[in-house]
Amino acid sequence: MITGKTSLVGLLGNPVSHSLSPIMHNAAIAEMGIDWCYLAIPCETNNLTCIVKALEHTNCKGLNITIPHKQNIIEACAEITPLSHQVGAVNTLIRNENNKWTGTNTDVDGFLFPLINESFENKAALVIGAGGSSRAVLTGLKTLNLKNITVVNRSSKRLELFLETMAKNSHDENQSFRKIQGLNEKDISVIEHLKNADLIINTTPVGMTSHSKKVDDPFNFPINEEIWNHIKPTAIAYDLIYTPRPTPWLKKCISQGCKAIDGLEMLIQQGAASLRLWSGIDDVPVEIMKNAINDYLSN
Ligand code: NAP
Repeated sequence: MITGKTSLVGLLGNPVSHSLSPIMHNAAIAEMGIDWCYLAIPCETNNLTCIVKALEHTNCKGLNITIPHKQNIIEACAEITPLSHQVGAVNTLIRNENNKWTGTNTDVDGFLFPLINESFENKAALVIGAGGSSRAVLTGLKTLNLKNITVVNRSSKRLELFLETMAKNSHDENQSFRKIQGLNEKDISVIEHLKNADLIINTTPVGMTSHSKKVDDPFNFPINEEIWNHIKPTAIAYDLIYTPRPTPWLKKCISQGCKAIDGLEMLIQQGAASLRLWSGIDDVPVEIMKNAINDYLSN
């Protein structure tokens, strides 16, 4: 029951009404017996600093940050963790010893979780998209000892900026970012990189239910539909989006023999990691979070 003693945790973003985070977090909070309530709070960019500072003075125990604030939020934090600095983005605010906000990033661990039992040493990865989530993906890939990473994007300008920022933020003795090559999605050599890739990650919203209304729309495929006829059957296809399940791209990759992973596990694991940080409790009921989301999506 929400009482006068209940504390707030929540999500700041815009829009947030579609978010599954309140569903999974409130299910976990109830199971853990913590007197908290998780709310999705819509927040315009102009009001971000003011809202975050105001929440610092309340009984708010922690916050998640989503689109479009993951980069802007850095300025509103008293400090950020080295990992957030590397990614250049924050998705979680935790209280520091002075009760101020420390920005951290749980998207990297969330992204890596479904890959834990795979080995990618000396293998090749292809990442589609050079936006906010791609930063977390690249930071995670850097830990997998890959032979090379190719990033493919629609806009060359954004790709260039993305690669520059990632290289600048990286304090990496192995210089993993030297192994990264950027290609425009129209570049003819994309197909060769795709044929050699063992792990392919879609970080664009292309194929998401709300992005294109018709399921058989050719624009539901990152890059284009035909190119995926050339994917290695042994490759892993990882889509950060998870509606519909499977996404049109994952469906195609499965038909080519590939193993498919969608973004639901990443969503749940980044949320579980945030909850561990806020509560100080390691044993977060991840299965309860999964069940809550699956129940919600199947209704
Ligand atoms: P973002 O910063 O806006 O970046 C979007 C990227 O997708 C850009 O590289 C953009 O290319 C590309 N793109 C967008 N529309 C495209 C189109 N029609 N054709 C080709 N490329 C297109 O977004 P984000 O924060 O990275 O999020 C991307 C997706 O990942 C979202 O759908 C989000 O829901 C999902 N996500 C999932 C999780 C999870 O936990 N599962 C976590 C984070 C994000 P240009 O540079 O050319 O515009």
